[in-house]
Amino acid sequence: MHQINADLHCHSNVSDGTLTPEAVAERAHRNGVALWSLTDHDEIGGQHRARDAALRLGMAYLPGAEISVTFADKTVHIVGLGFDPDHPQLVQGLAATRNGRERRAQDIAAELAKAGIPGAFEGALKYVGNPDLISRTHFARYIVETGLCSDSHEVFRRYLADGKPGFVPHCWARLADAVRWIAEAGGVAVIAHPGRYGFTPNEEFALFSEFKAHGGQGVEVVTGSHTVPEYQQYADMAIEFGLHASRGSDFHDPTESHTDLGTLPALPKSVRPVWELLEDRILRA
Ligand code: AMP
Ligand code: MN
Ligand code: MN
Ligand code: MN
Repeated sequence: MHQINADLHCHSNVSDGTLTPEAVAERAHRNGVALWSLTDHDEIGGQHRARDAALRLGMAYLPGAEISVTFADKTVHIVGLGFDPDHPQLVQGLAATRNGRERRAQDIAAELAKAGIPGAFEGALKYVGNPDLISRTHFARYIVETGLCSDSHEVFRRYLADGKPGFVPHCWARLADAVRWIAEAGGVAVIAHPGRYGFTPNEEFALFSEFKAHGGQGVEVVTGSHTVPEYQQYADMAIEFGLHASRGSDFHDPTESHTDLGTLPALPKSVRPVWELLEDRILRA
């Protein structure tokens, strides 16, 4: 079970990726992925297309999404896997989570204008595939286009990360709600890339404990956002908290992403893969 090439975290142009759901499916399949999930941010509008493309290619599929949550004044991402993408509570919860994005984008553009980058709202919109989902990534692509920064990582470092001139605080979903929407729709909730949040050990303990208390069952261990030592660190955390482990590239784009679909190492032998919990939710041709 550990050896399955599962990629359970990536994005299409239905959120802030650049490829269509079909093109992400083809790339995953070409790279040897056998179990795939498309996990667009706060959005399940690509799920039927992703499932159809996966099954056409003979790849097993789990419905997915990456939900933005505010926890301890920071943004935390919760991946949901194996849910019913038409479940009303989940559909409504995600719609509410997406709701403030356009307003926030206007505020980000106003802050960027003050920092000497005018026209960023219209600039970012050129990169948006889904008008309901304007993200900081679209601003980053526009700022790279202006020549001010050479890649999107530099844009985040200089303008868009927390505390930088173009950062606008935002209140996302509550942890309890995100976990509940996923569970009510029959899925499993997974803490995405815990190594990225910069939490103190106490804050991290609080996140894992509360997540578990709300019914969360998984944590990403092998992800494109973790270093090799973090694979072991979060494998140990998974065992300590009785969570199943997930694996995903967080692929967004062939040139921007550090990690391509399906190319990460296998999960450490010590953990239980999250797909063992999802056997009866996996869709096969
Ligand atoms: P948003 O949901 O609009 O806040 O945008 C978050 C997205 O920005 C993440 O999902 C990543 O795709 C991207 N992102 C965040 N931090 C960075 C970074 N340091 N470098 C490149 N992309 C980033
Ligand atoms: Mn993203
Ligand atoms: Mn994320
Ligand atoms: Mn992601």
